[in-house]
Amino acid sequence: MITSNVDGQRRWRAAVMDNYGTPAITLVRGEGAHVWDADGNRYLDLVAGIATNALGHAHPAVVAAVTAQVATLGHTSNLYVNPVAVELADALLDVAGLAGNAKVLFCNSGAEANEAAFKLTRLTGRGKVIAIEGAFHGRTMGALALTGQPPKRTPFEPLTPGVTHVPFGDIEALRSAVDSDTAAVFLEPVLGEGGVVPVPDGYLQAAREITAAAGALLVLDEVQTGIGRLGSWFAFQQAGITPDVFTLAKGLGGGLPLGACVAVGAAAELFAPGHHGTTFGGNPVSAAAGLAVLRTIAADGLLQHVAAIGKDLAAGIEQLDHPLVAGVRGTGLLLGVALTAPVSAAAAAAAAKAGYLVNNVQPDALRLAPPLILTEEQAGEFVAALPAILDTAQES
Ligand code: PMP
Repeated sequence: MITSNVDGQRRWRAAVMDNYGTPAITLVRGEGAHVWDADGNRYLDLVAGIATNALGHAHPAVVAAVTAQVATLGHTSNLYVNPVAVELADALLDVAGLAGNAKVLFCNSGAEANEAAFKLTRLTGRGKVIAIEGAFHGRTMGALALTGQPPKRTPFEPLTPGVTHVPFGDIEALRSAVDSDTAAVFLEPVLGEGGVVPVPDGYLQAAREITAAAGALLVLDEVQTGIGRLGSWFAFQQAGITPDVFTLAKGLGGGLPLGACVAVGAAAELFAPGHHGTTFGGNPVSAAAGLAVLRTIAADGLLQHVAAIGKDLAAGIEQLDHPLVAGVRGTGLLLGVALTAPVSAAAAAAAAKAGYLVNNVQPDALRLAPPLILTEEQAGEFVAALPAILDTAQES
Protein backbone atom coordinates (compact mmCIF):
# COMPACT_ATOMS: atom_id res chain seq x y z
CA MET A 1 0.00 0.00 0.00
CA ILE A 2 1.16 3.51 -0.76
CA THR A 3 1.67 5.29 2.54
CA SER A 4 2.31 8.92 1.58
CA ASN A 5 2.63 11.33 -1.34
CA VAL A 6 6.40 10.89 -1.31
CA ASP A 7 6.07 7.09 -1.27
CA GLY A 8 3.61 7.28 -4.18
CA GLN A 9 5.95 9.48 -6.14
CA ARG A 10 8.92 7.17 -5.55
CA ARG A 11 7.02 4.06 -6.58
CA TRP A 12 5.45 5.79 -9.61
CA ARG A 13 8.89 6.86 -10.82
CA ALA A 14 10.22 3.32 -10.46
CA ALA A 15 7.38 1.42 -12.13
CA VAL A 16 5.40 3.74 -14.40
CA MET A 17 6.74 5.06 -17.71
CA ASP A 18 7.70 8.68 -17.51
CA ASN A 19 5.19 10.02 -20.02
CA TYR A 20 3.48 12.47 -17.67
CA GLY A 21 6.50 13.48 -15.62
CA THR A 22 6.34 12.45 -11.98
CA PRO A 23 3.29 13.87 -10.16
CA ALA A 24 3.79 15.23 -6.65
CA ILE A 25 0.36 14.30 -5.32
CA THR A 26 -1.04 10.80 -4.86
CA LEU A 27 -4.84 10.94 -4.80
CA VAL A 28 -6.49 8.13 -2.89
CA ARG A 29 -10.14 9.08 -2.38
CA GLY A 30 -12.86 11.36 -3.72
CA GLU A 31 -16.32 12.47 -2.72
CA GLY A 32 -18.38 15.13 -4.46
CA ALA A 33 -16.11 17.98 -5.51
CA HIS A 34 -13.36 16.95 -3.09
CA VAL A 35 -10.41 14.56 -3.26
CA TRP A 36 -7.92 13.46 -0.62
CA ASP A 37 -4.23 12.65 -1.01
CA ALA A 38 -2.11 9.95 0.60
CA ASP A 39 -1.05 12.37 3.37
CA GLY A 40 -4.68 13.04 4.26
CA ASN A 41 -4.86 16.53 2.68
CA ARG A 42 -8.23 17.52 1.22
CA TYR A 43 -8.52 19.45 -2.05
CA LEU A 44 -11.38 21.14 -3.87
CA ASP A 45 -11.08 19.45 -7.26
CA LEU A 46 -11.31 22.09 -9.99
CA VAL A 47 -9.72 19.75 -12.53
CA ALA A 48 -12.14 16.82 -12.22
CA GLY A 49 -10.06 14.33 -14.14
CA ILE A 50 -9.64 17.05 -16.77
CA ALA A 51 -13.26 17.95 -17.43
CA THR A 52 -14.22 14.35 -16.81
CA ASN A 53 -15.91 13.64 -13.48
CA ALA A 54 -19.13 15.35 -14.52
CA LEU A 55 -20.99 14.46 -11.31
CA GLY A 56 -17.95 14.67 -9.07
CA HIS A 57 -16.49 11.74 -7.22
CA ALA A 58 -18.44 8.75 -5.94
CA HIS A 59 -21.79 10.23 -6.97
CA PRO A 60 -24.47 7.90 -5.55
CA ALA A 61 -26.21 7.55 -8.94
CA VAL A 62 -23.00 6.45 -10.66
CA VAL A 63 -21.99 4.16 -7.81
CA ALA A 64 -25.42 2.50 -7.79
CA ALA A 65 -25.59 2.12 -11.59
CA VAL A 66 -22.09 0.70 -11.90
CA THR A 67 -22.46 -1.62 -8.92
CA ALA A 68 -25.76 -3.01 -10.15
CA GLN A 69 -24.49 -3.46 -13.70
CA VAL A 70 -21.24 -5.20 -12.81
CA ALA A 71 -23.23 -7.58 -10.64
CA THR A 72 -25.68 -8.28 -13.49
CA LEU A 73 -23.53 -8.46 -16.61
CA GLY A 74 -20.14 -6.82 -16.63
CA HIS A 75 -19.01 -7.47 -20.16
CA THR A 76 -19.81 -9.60 -23.18
CA SER A 77 -18.63 -8.24 -26.55
CA ASN A 78 -20.10 -6.54 -29.55
CA LEU A 79 -21.01 -9.96 -30.99
CA TYR A 80 -24.29 -9.62 -29.07
CA VAL A 81 -26.75 -6.81 -28.52
CA ASN A 82 -25.70 -4.81 -25.48
CA PRO A 83 -28.95 -3.43 -24.03
CA VAL A 84 -27.25 -0.83 -21.84
CA ALA A 85 -25.40 0.62 -24.84
CA VAL A 86 -28.70 0.77 -26.73
CA GLU A 87 -30.31 2.71 -23.90
CA LEU A 88 -27.37 5.07 -23.70
CA ALA A 89 -27.39 5.65 -27.47
CA ASP A 90 -31.10 6.47 -27.32
CA ALA A 91 -30.58 8.82 -24.38
CA LEU A 92 -27.65 10.58 -26.08
CA LEU A 93 -29.51 11.08 -29.36
CA ASP A 94 -32.49 12.31 -27.38
CA VAL A 95 -30.58 15.07 -25.58
CA ALA A 96 -28.83 15.93 -28.85
CA GLY A 97 -32.25 16.39 -30.50
CA LEU A 98 -31.23 13.81 -33.10
CA ALA A 99 -33.38 10.79 -32.29
CA GLY A 100 -34.07 8.83 -35.48
CA ASN A 101 -31.56 10.89 -37.47
CA ALA A 102 -28.17 9.84 -36.06
CA LYS A 103 -26.30 6.80 -34.78
CA VAL A 104 -23.65 6.22 -32.14
CA LEU A 105 -20.43 4.22 -32.18
CA PHE A 106 -19.12 3.62 -28.67
CA CYS A 107 -15.45 3.39 -27.78
CA ASN A 108 -13.23 3.95 -24.75
CA SER A 109 -11.60 7.37 -24.99
CA GLY A 110 -11.52 10.69 -26.75
CA ALA A 111 -8.63 9.74 -29.01
CA GLU A 112 -10.50 6.61 -30.03
CA ALA A 113 -13.67 8.57 -30.74
CA ASN A 114 -11.67 10.83 -33.05
CA GLU A 115 -9.95 7.83 -34.67
CA ALA A 116 -13.40 6.46 -35.49
CA ALA A 117 -14.50 9.82 -36.88
CA PHE A 118 -11.30 10.10 -38.95
CA LYS A 119 -11.77 6.59 -40.38
CA LEU A 120 -15.39 7.37 -41.14
CA THR A 121 -14.36 10.43 -43.18
CA ARG A 122 -12.11 8.22 -45.37
CA LEU A 123 -15.23 6.32 -46.47
CA THR A 124 -16.55 9.42 -48.23
CA GLY A 125 -14.07 8.64 -51.00
CA ARG A 126 -12.29 11.94 -50.39
CA GLY A 127 -8.85 11.92 -48.76
CA LYS A 128 -8.32 15.48 -47.59
CA VAL A 129 -9.02 16.57 -44.03
CA ILE A 130 -8.72 20.07 -42.61
CA ALA A 131 -7.89 20.60 -38.94
CA ILE A 132 -6.89 23.59 -36.82
CA GLU A 133 -3.53 24.88 -35.62
CA GLY A 134 -3.36 24.60 -31.83
CA ALA A 135 -6.21 22.07 -31.60
CA PHE A 136 -5.89 18.84 -29.63
CA HIS A 137 -7.64 15.61 -30.62
CA GLY A 138 -5.67 12.89 -28.79
CA ARG A 139 -2.39 10.99 -28.83
CA THR A 140 -3.01 7.93 -31.01
CA MET A 141 -1.47 8.21 -34.46
CA GLY A 142 -4.59 9.28 -36.35
CA ALA A 143 -5.74 11.67 -33.63
CA LEU A 144 -2.21 13.04 -33.49
CA ALA A 145 -2.31 13.70 -37.23
CA LEU A 146 -5.40 15.86 -36.53
CA THR A 147 -3.79 17.56 -33.53
CA GLY A 148 -2.33 20.93 -34.47
CA GLN A 149 0.42 21.17 -31.84
CA PRO A 150 3.84 20.48 -33.45
CA PRO A 151 5.75 19.53 -30.26
CA LYS A 152 3.32 16.64 -29.70
CA ARG A 153 3.48 15.53 -33.35
CA THR A 154 7.07 15.92 -34.49
CA PRO A 155 8.71 13.02 -32.58
CA PHE A 156 6.16 10.60 -34.06
CA GLU A 157 6.30 11.48 -37.73
CA PRO A 158 5.47 10.18 -40.26
CA LEU A 159 1.83 10.58 -39.26
CA THR A 160 -1.35 9.59 -41.09
CA PRO A 161 -1.32 11.61 -44.33
CA GLY A 162 -4.00 13.86 -45.75
CA VAL A 163 -4.39 16.42 -42.95
CA THR A 164 -3.82 20.14 -43.51
CA HIS A 165 -3.91 22.60 -40.60
CA VAL A 166 -5.30 26.11 -40.92
CA PRO A 167 -5.00 28.97 -38.41
CA PHE A 168 -7.42 28.97 -35.47
CA GLY A 169 -10.53 31.12 -35.73
CA ASP A 170 -9.84 32.33 -39.28
CA ILE A 171 -13.00 31.91 -41.35
CA GLU A 172 -11.37 33.00 -44.62
CA ALA A 173 -8.46 30.56 -44.17
CA LEU A 174 -10.97 27.79 -43.64
CA ARG A 175 -12.99 28.84 -46.66
CA SER A 176 -9.97 28.76 -48.97
CA ALA A 177 -8.72 25.41 -47.60
CA VAL A 178 -11.97 23.52 -48.20
CA ASP A 179 -12.66 22.24 -51.72
CA SER A 180 -14.33 19.38 -53.55
CA ASP A 181 -11.59 16.94 -52.42
CA THR A 182 -12.17 17.76 -48.75
CA ALA A 183 -13.66 14.87 -46.80
CA ALA A 184 -14.03 16.71 -43.50
CA VAL A 185 -13.17 19.62 -41.26
CA PHE A 186 -12.31 18.76 -37.64
CA LEU A 187 -12.89 21.48 -35.02
CA GLU A 188 -12.83 21.93 -31.28
CA PRO A 189 -15.58 24.43 -30.32
CA VAL A 190 -13.23 25.59 -27.57
CA LEU A 191 -9.51 24.82 -27.72
CA GLY A 192 -9.23 22.86 -24.49
CA GLU A 193 -5.60 21.76 -24.23
CA GLY A 194 -4.75 24.86 -26.26
CA GLY A 195 -5.62 26.98 -23.21
CA VAL A 196 -9.45 27.21 -23.12
CA VAL A 197 -9.88 29.46 -26.17
CA PRO A 198 -13.42 29.56 -27.58
CA VAL A 199 -13.77 29.95 -31.37
CA PRO A 200 -14.79 33.50 -32.37
CA ASP A 201 -18.50 34.33 -32.62
CA GLY A 202 -19.94 33.13 -35.91
CA TYR A 203 -17.10 30.71 -36.62
CA LEU A 204 -19.01 27.45 -36.13
CA GLN A 205 -21.90 28.74 -38.24
CA ALA A 206 -19.45 29.73 -40.99
CA ALA A 207 -17.75 26.32 -40.79
CA ARG A 208 -21.16 24.68 -41.14
CA GLU A 209 -21.94 26.73 -44.22
CA ILE A 210 -18.48 26.20 -45.81
CA THR A 211 -18.49 22.42 -45.32
CA ALA A 212 -22.09 22.02 -46.47
CA ALA A 213 -21.35 23.98 -49.66
CA ALA A 214 -18.34 21.73 -50.45
CA GLY A 215 -20.09 18.48 -49.56
CA ALA A 216 -17.55 17.94 -46.75
CA LEU A 217 -18.34 16.62 -43.28
CA LEU A 218 -18.19 18.95 -40.30
CA VAL A 219 -16.75 17.01 -37.36
CA LEU A 220 -16.89 18.63 -33.94
CA ASP A 221 -14.64 17.30 -31.21
CA GLU A 222 -16.85 17.76 -28.15
CA VAL A 223 -14.71 15.52 -25.96
CA GLN A 224 -14.06 18.42 -23.61
CA THR A 225 -17.08 20.67 -24.31
CA GLY A 226 -19.85 18.04 -24.45
CA ILE A 227 -22.13 16.61 -21.76
CA GLY A 228 -23.11 19.81 -20.03
CA ARG A 229 -19.73 21.40 -19.51
CA LEU A 230 -20.66 24.67 -21.25
CA GLY A 231 -24.15 24.81 -19.71
CA SER A 232 -25.79 23.07 -22.67
CA TRP A 233 -25.62 19.40 -23.58
CA PHE A 234 -23.33 20.18 -26.51
CA ALA A 235 -21.52 23.25 -27.82
CA PHE A 236 -23.16 22.87 -31.22
CA GLN A 237 -26.56 23.52 -29.63
CA GLN A 238 -25.35 26.91 -28.36
CA ALA A 239 -24.16 27.70 -31.89
CA GLY A 240 -27.49 26.63 -33.38
CA ILE A 241 -25.91 24.21 -35.87
CA THR A 242 -25.87 20.45 -36.41
CA PRO A 243 -22.51 18.87 -37.26
CA ASP A 244 -22.29 15.73 -39.40
CA VAL A 245 -20.21 14.00 -36.74
CA PHE A 246 -19.38 14.81 -33.13
CA THR A 247 -17.14 13.01 -30.71
CA LEU A 248 -17.50 12.60 -26.95
CA ALA A 249 -15.60 11.06 -24.04
CA LYS A 250 -14.49 12.57 -20.70
CA GLY A 251 -17.75 13.64 -18.96
CA LEU A 252 -19.83 11.02 -20.77
CA GLY A 253 -18.64 8.15 -18.59
CA GLY A 254 -18.73 10.09 -15.32
CA GLY A 255 -15.21 8.82 -14.54
CA LEU A 256 -15.38 5.50 -16.34
CA PRO A 257 -13.69 5.00 -19.72
CA LEU A 258 -16.30 5.73 -22.36
CA GLY A 259 -16.16 7.53 -25.69
CA ALA A 260 -18.61 7.98 -28.52
CA CYS A 261 -18.55 8.98 -32.15
CA VAL A 262 -22.00 10.23 -33.17
CA ALA A 263 -22.81 10.57 -36.87
CA VAL A 264 -25.83 12.36 -38.29
CA GLY A 265 -27.90 11.56 -41.38
CA ALA A 266 -26.00 9.96 -44.28
CA ALA A 267 -22.71 10.00 -42.32
CA ALA A 268 -24.27 7.49 -39.90
CA GLU A 269 -24.47 4.94 -42.71
CA LEU A 270 -20.82 5.07 -43.82
CA PHE A 271 -19.48 2.31 -41.56
CA ALA A 272 -20.34 -1.23 -42.59
CA PRO A 273 -19.59 -4.48 -40.73
CA GLY A 274 -15.85 -5.12 -40.71
CA HIS A 275 -14.84 -1.46 -40.95
CA HIS A 276 -14.25 -0.68 -37.30
CA GLY A 277 -14.57 -2.05 -33.79
CA THR A 278 -13.20 -2.21 -30.27
CA THR A 279 -13.72 -4.92 -27.65
CA PHE A 280 -14.76 -2.71 -24.75
CA GLY A 281 -16.64 -0.04 -26.72
CA GLY A 282 -19.91 0.67 -24.91
CA ASN A 283 -19.07 -1.86 -22.22
CA PRO A 284 -22.23 -2.29 -20.07
CA VAL A 285 -20.55 -0.99 -16.91
CA SER A 286 -19.27 2.18 -18.60
CA ALA A 287 -22.58 2.57 -20.43
CA ALA A 288 -24.49 2.27 -17.13
CA ALA A 289 -22.33 5.06 -15.74
CA GLY A 290 -23.06 7.12 -18.85
CA LEU A 291 -26.78 6.65 -18.44
CA ALA A 292 -26.55 7.71 -14.78
CA VAL A 293 -24.66 10.84 -15.86
CA LEU A 294 -27.23 11.84 -18.49
CA ARG A 295 -30.19 11.13 -16.21
CA THR A 296 -28.70 13.01 -13.26
CA ILE A 297 -27.77 16.07 -15.34
CA ALA A 298 -31.39 16.21 -16.56
CA ALA A 299 -33.07 15.39 -13.23
CA ASP A 300 -30.97 17.82 -11.19
CA GLY A 301 -31.14 20.71 -13.65
CA LEU A 302 -27.35 20.76 -13.93
CA LEU A 303 -27.26 22.53 -17.31
CA GLN A 304 -28.83 25.65 -15.81
CA HIS A 305 -26.66 25.27 -12.72
CA VAL A 306 -23.47 25.10 -14.82
CA ALA A 307 -24.44 28.14 -16.90
CA ALA A 308 -25.15 30.20 -13.77
CA ILE A 309 -22.25 29.11 -11.60
CA GLY A 310 -19.80 29.39 -14.50
CA LYS A 311 -20.83 33.00 -15.01
CA ASP A 312 -20.43 33.76 -11.29
CA LEU A 313 -17.06 32.04 -11.09
CA ALA A 314 -15.67 33.90 -14.13
CA ALA A 315 -17.05 37.24 -12.88
CA GLY A 316 -15.72 36.58 -9.37
CA ILE A 317 -12.19 36.01 -10.69
CA GLU A 318 -12.30 39.04 -12.98
CA GLN A 319 -13.58 41.24 -10.17
CA LEU A 320 -10.51 40.38 -8.09
CA ASP A 321 -8.66 42.73 -10.44
CA HIS A 322 -5.43 40.89 -9.66
CA PRO A 323 -2.41 42.09 -11.68
CA LEU A 324 -1.58 38.51 -12.71
CA VAL A 325 -5.02 37.96 -14.25
CA ALA A 326 -5.36 39.17 -17.83
CA GLY A 327 -8.90 37.86 -18.14
CA VAL A 328 -11.14 34.81 -17.94
CA ARG A 329 -12.06 32.90 -21.11
CA GLY A 330 -14.74 30.33 -21.72
CA THR A 331 -18.31 29.46 -20.80
CA GLY A 332 -19.97 27.33 -18.17
CA LEU A 333 -17.51 25.25 -16.20
CA LEU A 334 -14.73 25.23 -18.78
CA LEU A 335 -12.83 28.38 -17.89
CA GLY A 336 -9.35 29.58 -18.73
CA VAL A 337 -7.72 32.12 -16.46
CA ALA A 338 -5.31 34.01 -18.71
CA LEU A 339 -2.22 35.15 -16.83
CA THR A 340 -0.04 38.17 -17.59
CA ALA A 341 3.12 36.08 -17.01
CA PRO A 342 4.09 32.44 -17.74
CA VAL A 343 3.78 31.30 -14.12
CA SER A 344 0.89 28.84 -14.34
CA ALA A 345 2.94 25.94 -12.93
CA ALA A 346 3.82 27.99 -9.85
CA ALA A 347 0.18 29.07 -9.54
CA ALA A 348 -1.07 25.47 -9.75
CA ALA A 349 1.49 24.42 -7.10
CA ALA A 350 0.46 27.28 -4.81
CA ALA A 351 -3.20 26.41 -5.35
CA ALA A 352 -2.56 22.77 -4.40
CA LYS A 353 -0.78 23.90 -1.25
CA ALA A 354 -3.85 25.97 -0.38
CA GLY A 355 -6.17 23.00 -1.04
CA TYR A 356 -7.32 23.64 -4.63
CA LEU A 357 -6.52 21.53 -7.68
CA VAL A 358 -6.26 23.61 -10.85
CA ASN A 359 -4.57 22.75 -14.14
CA ASN A 360 -1.70 24.72 -15.69
CA VAL A 361 -2.96 23.97 -19.19
CA GLN A 362 -0.58 26.46 -20.85
CA PRO A 363 2.36 28.39 -19.33
CA ASP A 364 0.19 31.53 -19.22
CA ALA A 365 -3.20 29.95 -18.56
CA LEU A 366 -4.91 28.00 -15.81
CA ARG A 367 -7.79 25.70 -16.68
CA LEU A 368 -10.77 25.30 -14.37
CA ALA A 369 -12.98 22.34 -15.27
CA PRO A 370 -14.61 21.35 -11.97
CA PRO A 371 -17.39 18.79 -11.55
CA LEU A 372 -20.72 20.12 -12.80
CA ILE A 373 -22.04 19.78 -9.24
CA LEU A 374 -19.69 22.48 -7.89
CA THR A 375 -21.66 24.60 -5.43
CA GLU A 376 -21.77 28.38 -5.20
CA GLU A 377 -20.08 28.18 -1.79
CA GLN A 378 -17.24 26.09 -3.18
CA ALA A 379 -16.75 28.46 -6.12
CA GLY A 380 -16.80 31.43 -3.74
CA GLU A 381 -14.28 29.78 -1.44
CA PHE A 382 -11.88 29.36 -4.38
CA VAL A 383 -12.32 32.95 -5.56
CA ALA A 384 -11.56 34.16 -2.02
CA ALA A 385 -8.41 32.04 -1.87
CA LEU A 386 -7.15 33.04 -5.32
CA PRO A 387 -5.43 36.38 -4.59
CA ALA A 388 -3.03 34.79 -2.10
CA ILE A 389 -2.37 31.92 -4.54
CA LEU A 390 -1.60 34.35 -7.35
CA ASP A 391 0.59 36.49 -5.09
CA THR A 392 2.66 33.40 -4.30
CA ALA A 393 2.95 32.54 -8.01
CA GLN A 394 3.97 36.08 -8.84
CA GLU A 395 6.73 36.03 -6.24
CA SER A 396 8.11 32.69 -7.50
N1 PMP B 1 -10.15 15.68 -27.82
C1 PMP B 1 -10.12 16.68 -26.91
C2 PMP B 1 -10.78 17.97 -27.26
C3 PMP B 1 -9.49 16.50 -25.68
O1 PMP B 1 -9.46 17.50 -24.79
C4 PMP B 1 -8.90 15.26 -25.38
C5 PMP B 1 -8.21 14.97 -24.06
N2 PMP B 1 -7.70 16.03 -23.39
C6 PMP B 1 -8.95 14.26 -26.35
C7 PMP B 1 -9.59 14.49 -27.54
C8 PMP B 1 -8.34 12.90 -26.11
O2 PMP B 1 -9.09 12.22 -25.19
P1 PMP B 1 -8.47 10.93 -24.45
O3 PMP B 1 -7.40 11.44 -23.55
O4 PMP B 1 -9.63 10.34 -23.72
O5 PMP B 1 -7.94 10.04 -25.50
